[in-house]
Amino acid sequence: MVITLATLQASMRECCDCAALVKCRSRVVPGDGVVPAQVMFVGIAPGRFGGDITGIPFSGDRSGLLLRTMIARAGIEDVFITNLVRCNPRDERGRNRDPLAAEIDNCRRHLEAEIAMVRPRMIVCLGAMAWRELAGRDEVFDPSRPKIQQRGGATLYPMYHPGYVIRGAYDARRYINDFRRLRRHLDKRQFAELATACALPAT
Ligand code: SF4
Repeated sequence: MVITLATLQASMRECCDCAALVKCRSRVVPGDGVVPAQVMFVGIAPGRFGGDITGIPFSGDRSGLLLRTMIARAGIEDVFITNLVRCNPRDERGRNRDPLAAEIDNCRRHLEAEIAMVRPRMIVCLGAMAWRELAGRDEVFDPSRPKIQQRGGATLYPMYHPGYVIRGAYDARRYINDFRRLRRHLDKRQFAELATACALPAT
């Protein structure tokens, strides 16, 4: 049977592996975007005012609007957007909370299935939690001097989560520059691949 994005998403929507999240989620929010994609963005979890309502990661709330505006403004195309977990985690007062380690572990098989399907050249980790889950728990998260790592065929790249910018913890103009730098990395990588394919001298 051919596995398409739609069949993968449908199988994720049936998932009930995290008892606490099954109780508080409105819906499962699988990753969404272009397949295959040049870049995959990985956040933390669907927000209660965003993906949990719309069913699409990083949509319907301010974080989603900021992320998608930054991507468009940097001229980055062919993107796939997802999260470490596909259900909205809430605390006892109904507010967003970080997913537990066990919830991230439970959802890892879905993330790996998305990575295998999307085959991104670059995986952008939005925030320290996503970075440490993908790059390694001891890896320092420093988007100001991105330490780029390889993971399978993809390059891992750290960036701040848009929610961090929305909260005023990071300057929006610097965030714009971070996306420009990401774009330069993508262009450089694309040129290097082209140079290899055409046997051009590398710059
Ligand atoms: S967070 Fe992931 S593993 Fe847990 S119930 Fe939702 S889809 Fe399943």
